[in-house]
Amino acid sequence: MILIEAVCLAVGAFVLLMPKEDPDLDELVNKKIKFEYQTETDRVVTYGLAVPRPNIDIQLLTVNDWSRPGIKVDSIDKIVVHYLGNPETTAQQNHDYFQSLKNLQNTYMSANYVVGTNGEIIQCVPDGEVAWASNKANYYSISIENCHLDSSGQFTEATYWSDVHLVAYLTEKYSLDRDDIIRHYDVTGKDCPKWYVEHPDEWEQFKDDVMTYRQECEQAQRNMIDELLHPDDDDETEEDILRKYLDGLNAETDVQLETSDQNLWDELKKRAEKAAAKDDAENEG
Ligand SMILES: [Zn+2]
Repeated sequence: MILIEAVCLAVGAFVLLMPKEDPDLDELVNKKIKFEYQTETDRVVTYGLAVPRPNIDIQLLTVNDWSRPGIKVDSIDKIVVHYLGNPETTAQQNHDYFQSLKNLQNTYMSANYVVGTNGEIIQCVPDGEVAWASNKANYYSISIENCHLDSSGQFTEATYWSDVHLVAYLTEKYSLDRDDIIRHYDVTGKDCPKWYVEHPDEWEQFKDDVMTYRQECEQAQRNMIDELLHPDDDDETEEDILRKYLDGLNAETDVQLETSDQNLWDELKKRAEKAAAKDDAENEG
């Protein structure tokens, strides 16, 4: 009897720790963005992201009250940028610290992502799950912690551009705008991220850089689709076109196509083949 009760308690605790199902939120997290444009001769509607996913090292924390409570957020309305306030620590060290809170049990702290001074991005908590970073905004945002080299809190170039690429990717994925990119300071008045609280002009520049990168990605995707539908160089393979597309994104970090983009790519190939067959038939006729 005692054994059965213990098993029931263990199962109950496990169920409690599991993230709760929420079909609406899951749909939001997994949804594919509609991408629609007009070429000279075609109207193309596809589903896929224009901004490629930056290279993200996924190291999810174990579900635990102190750093990954396993609570679903109410919505994803904001991206909140932070700085760690702990100079010269690495993204890996901060990830490992969040993970250790499961045992230390002395503070509630984490973030969905941590970006290191070499531009490396580690994901600690999935999008759509609460991380302990941004106070009340934890329930309606995704948080990004940033490493830095000294107490000024200034980001390195590599950290800055990884943040630009990550925030561009997330804002497109969750249909967010420039105004949805906020600092911890904008939630609570806390001096975080320090450098961008003290240099508001550079904060505005950061948001501009995110939006400019998104536009560049959209333009590059348009060019890529256009070229697939209307190839002007017979020697160019689809891989060449894809490579040129990725190179054209000005991404200084490694970028990769997501599953949804792979579907897009397959769909584009089909369209291009159909268009080519149609051209051949017309030329022969
Ligand atoms: Zn903060």
